[in-house]
Amino acid sequence: MSRITVTILGTTAGAPTPDRGHSGVLIVREDAHRSILLLDCGEGAQRQVMRAGVNLFDIDAVFITHLHGDHCLGLPGMVDTMGFDGRTRPLAVYSPEPRRISKLLGAARSHRKFAILNRPVPLWRKTPVKIYSRKGFSILSAPVSHGIPAVAYCLKEEEKLNIDPEKAALAGLPDEGNLYQELKERRVVRNRGRMIRLGDVSRVIPGKIVVYSGDTEICSSVKTLSAGADLLVHDCTYLGDAERSYKHASLPQVELLAEECGVKKVILTHYSRKYADVDIVRRGITMPDRVQAATDLFSITL
Ligand SMILES: [Zn+2]
Repeated sequence: MSRITVTILGTTAGAPTPDRGHSGVLIVREDAHRSILLLDCGEGAQRQVMRAGVNLFDIDAVFITHLHGDHCLGLPGMVDTMGFDGRTRPLAVYSPEPRRISKLLGAARSHRKFAILNRPVPLWRKTPVKIYSRKGFSILSAPVSHGIPAVAYCLKEEEKLNIDPEKAALAGLPDEGNLYQELKERRVVRNRGRMIRLGDVSRVIPGKIVVYSGDTEICSSVKTLSAGADLLVHDCTYLGDAERSYKHASLPQVELLAEECGVKKVILTHYSRKYADVDIVRRGITMPDRVQAATDLFSITL
């Protein structure tokens, strides 16, 4: 069973406040392997990663949702620090505008001895696309509606098949020797002349799904990614539907999306700085068992 810890590094929209920093979502996924992914890297994100107890060295890949400054201006500083610390392992940076990432990272005279793998994220496909795969999970992306090239990301674990001893016994598969292991590896075994398939004697353990909307108004692609999601981290720049949305989402809209898509848990972030205190956001929540307002360094483990 995997363990996924999601930490919201900063919760402000656009400009920082004394209590709230720029966007960044840190995902640490552990099973037999450990993967550390950074989604967005606003100014100050590298120090927040340290405060979350993660070594910058261990970040495997960065996924930028869009090139507004509050989501990417921390990247040059973080890469600079990685260079100071002697990183040699290449760092993959995914974004919808890789040329701007190159310019951003070329601005400072850094002495880094590692390659930046500057990966484009597709904007022309309306359906989610798999852009990154590791053992047990993938990262999908889909374009969102924000007025400039912007995407949402989704960590999707593979489903697992666990052998059900009762079904196995009924199929004539003895609980002995290496047959269980062989069936898991080959997905089919022959026992006393009978073919036994993994799918017939097992039950499906669904993988976890974590979605990060980045900045967007409510849109169909985030809804598609979020169907049945275990966790959705969503833009909540405004509190009321009556406010002009400026290509962002409001709290009632996000709650409606959670209901429509059967999302198990929603974490709100990216609040306008006109809400000086996150308690103002909290007071607007009507589904407290399902929806929570993050403060900087808020963390949740699935
Ligand atoms: Zn933003």
